[in-house]
Amino acid sequence: MKLEVVNMYPDILNTYGDMGNLICIKKRCEWRGININIKNFTIDKEIDLEDSDMILIGGGSDKGQYIISNHILNQRNSLESFIEDEKPVLAICASYQIFGDYYINPHDEKIPCLEIFEMETISKKERLVGDILISNNLKLDSLLVQKYKHDLNNIVGFENHGGRTYHKYGSLGNVKVGFGNNGEDGKEGMIYKNFIGSYLHGPILPKNPHIADYIIFNALKNKYDIDHLNENILNLNEIDDSIEINAHDENIHLVKNHD
Ligand code: GLN
Repeated sequence: MKLEVVNMYPDILNTYGDMGNLICIKKRCEWRGININIKNFTIDKEIDLEDSDMILIGGGSDKGQYIISNHILNQRNSLESFIEDEKPVLAICASYQIFGDYYINPHDEKIPCLEIFEMETISKKERLVGDILISNNLKLDSLLVQKYKHDLNNIVGFENHGGRTYHKYGSLGNVKVGFGNNGEDGKEGMIYKNFIGSYLHGPILPKNPHIADYIIFNALKNKYDIDHLNENILNLNEIDDSIEINAHDENIHLVKNHD
């Protein structure tokens, strides 16, 4: 089996180390014998989503957001079709915001966004910064649930954003500790089909391996038209997740006992 992964704007939207999500996806595929090909796109190239199976985009400064805004707007229709075809997208912070209608930056300027989701982001002076713990609202495949021997109900990370995001879609999780989308409605992130938007840096995937596998297996199920996972894909036993699980559990402990 093979996955084509599109990594967008790694030179501009990686202020908070979200490139670690790509490394996590790559290694978890390789450890299972799933071939993976990574296609990096940034503003000097046209984005070719043909035959791609997954998109990863990270977070960045308002300046970075502004730089990529014009470039990514030209890809609106192909990105919308990609999402509607239920191919996984993981968009973190700035790139999550860009899939909405608009982003009002701290200078009250409206940065045009993709208008794929009915979602608005308004920046405020006080930034929402710190460790964050949320519930996991993703519906994991039953075989994953059976095989996993660790916490599936929590997602842990770090947030740093001025933007307050408002939408009516399903959230990635309910905030247990931290701020989330806007520090008001107790929601964090967004789920629509296999699109996941989130404010969680960290990067989010290495210390939440259940989320990484959720994305990988949805990409495989979508590409190979598998209506459920089967043993030879999972081979979960082949991956020793002890480091990831320790990091996950230790982070939760730290977030919960933050003085
Ligand atoms: N510049 C955006 C904000 O501050 C996104 C920041 C980020 O990607 N962490 O809300």
